[in-house]
Amino acid sequence: MPKSNTPRQLLITYLRPQKWTVFLLALLVLAVITLQLINPQVMRAFLDGVQAGQPLDRLTNIAALFIVLAVLRQILQLASTYVGELVAWTATNALRADLALHCLKLDMGFHKVHKPGELIERVDGDINQLATFFSQLVIRLSANLLLAAGVLAFLWGIDWTIGLSIMLIVAIGALIIRVLNRHAIPRVQALREVEATLFGYIEEWLHGTETIRSNSAEPYIMQRLYRLLRERWQRGHHSMKLTTALNTVPNSVFSLAYVAIFTFGAWRFFGERVSIGTLYVTFYYVDLLREPLWQLTRQIEQLQRALASINRINELFGEQPTILDNPRHAILTSTPQGMQVTFADLTFAYADEPDTAVLQGIDFTLAPGKVLGLLGRTGSGKTTLTKLLLRFYDPTKGAIRLGDGVTQIDLRELAQSDLRRQIGVVTQQVQLFNATVRQNLTLFDATIDDDKILAALRAVGLHSWLAELPHGLDTHLAADGSLSAGEAQLLAFTRVFLADPKLIILDEASSRLDPATEQLIEKALDKLLHKRTVVIVAHRLATVNRADEIMILSQGRIVEHDRREALLADPESHFSTLLRSGLEEAIAA
Ligand code: ATP
Ligand code: MG
Repeated sequence: MPKSNTPRQLLITYLRPQKWTVFLLALLVLAVITLQLINPQVMRAFLDGVQAGQPLDRLTNIAALFIVLAVLRQILQLASTYVGELVAWTATNALRADLALHCLKLDMGFHKVHKPGELIERVDGDINQLATFFSQLVIRLSANLLLAAGVLAFLWGIDWTIGLSIMLIVAIGALIIRVLNRHAIPRVQALREVEATLFGYIEEWLHGTETIRSNSAEPYIMQRLYRLLRERWQRGHHSMKLTTALNTVPNSVFSLAYVAIFTFGAWRFFGERVSIGTLYVTFYYVDLLREPLWQLTRQIEQLQRALASINRINELFGEQPTILDNPRHAILTSTPQGMQVTFADLTFAYADEPDTAVLQGIDFTLAPGKVLGLLGRTGSGKTTLTKLLLRFYDPTKGAIRLGDGVTQIDLRELAQSDLRRQIGVVTQQVQLFNATVRQNLTLFDATIDDDKILAALRAVGLHSWLAELPHGLDTHLAADGSLSAGEAQLLAFTRVFLADPKLIILDEASSRLDPATEQLIEKALDKLLHKRTVVIVAHRLATVNRADEIMILSQGRIVEHDRREALLADPESHFSTLLRSGLEEAIAA
């Protein structure tokens, strides 16, 4: 996908794969227009025939032809609508998929700034605006121009004076529309921007319903909502004014056109230089002009919306991830015991606060198969350290290397997908999807068979939980988490079991678990951590006891790092002090 697309490039990219369908669509539209132009000629022959007293047979034939052509036109019209929709849906769905994938690959920093609701509005709302652009706009716009040109040609054929006057009137109308249009695009774009913000906001507070209710924050939420609604209304009003003005142009133009025909008719008809059939046809053609001209204004409005949307889609495509894959991927290796992890003099600051280093001078090596317990007060940088290991961010200085101890590879040399496949993560917040237990565990990978899933569930001790579910693995789980924190955590362990990684990151839930669940988790951890390297952000004494090494962070720096026994043996160590003062209370303080 190119960084930025002109409307033409977009058309080419998404219409080329279905070029034959588009060709068929163009043919259908052309056929409809041709029939529209021919039909009045048949009527003219009929009227003139009646006037000239032609035999009934002939008149009946002409009438029959008229009916056949009219029916044919309806059928072709129907077919062109169908094919047009087909083209539009195929193209917009492909674009939607491209944009969604692009968003998934963008940095975490981007997702922090842009709310899901806003992105939904862009990935779906803006692209919806392009449906007609793909299916019909270009074809119909050209078709309507063609139809208008055809009608004008016929009018010139009838009489050049009427041809010329109608042409002038239409030209003035088109000019007015053009001028009004130029001012409309920025207004429409501004409207869509505030709409995206509004949806982002709505998504945010729907997501936080529980927090809002429990804090009685409804009035504040509503106040901000009112403000956004008012702004949307103002911008909508602003762009609507122009649109309404635009809509009145065709009517005014046609009032003028009818005046011209009446004058022409009175002048020519009473001078007996024109037949009733010709006069009828003149009226009919001018009326026929009404349709394309009317449609042109609407289509130009749609085109503006489409152009505004294309601008916004381009903005999104223009966002580039800064975390990029090295085109020459190195291959990550590990030992049967796990993976070796090295932090080499690492410093890191988040992009939005580049002057505040969240981690500083982090330098250590964790041997394969070792369990590192990471401790530290809230905000000391523990979660940040684990995110760097997953390469959600790149270090500001220094490096992280992984490998088998012999070859150590900088994370930036690896393919991100390869890296993340080999690291298992369980975070404080377990994200469940609105899907079956099976899909939640395999993350929609259908190649993992049930035996493996059941074995993993047994390993973490969830088999009795599964046995109680009404439909077993096919039971639907709600995304909002009707599971207890402990169950969710165990499900996350099962995911890791299935992925079988060599390095595990565990950001332990700080909330207390009931003793039964705690025991389950302990048993699961026994199996999970076997023959893997582990970094645990530990909150519970049981987990800390399991660690081979302890590292204590304070304000982004390592204040202590050693084997757990060594730290225990030294009553002066931070770790011993922490244990004496009660681990959880000390960490939470
Ligand atoms: P806790 O024990 O509460 O989970 P933590 O040790 O995991 O804390 P981090 O989440 O790593 O702490 O945060 C370290 C610092 O970085 C904090 O000051 C926090 O405000 C800041 N921080 C965390 N995430 C971001 C982010 N995405 N953008 C900017 N700053 C951030
Ligand atoms: Mg944290």
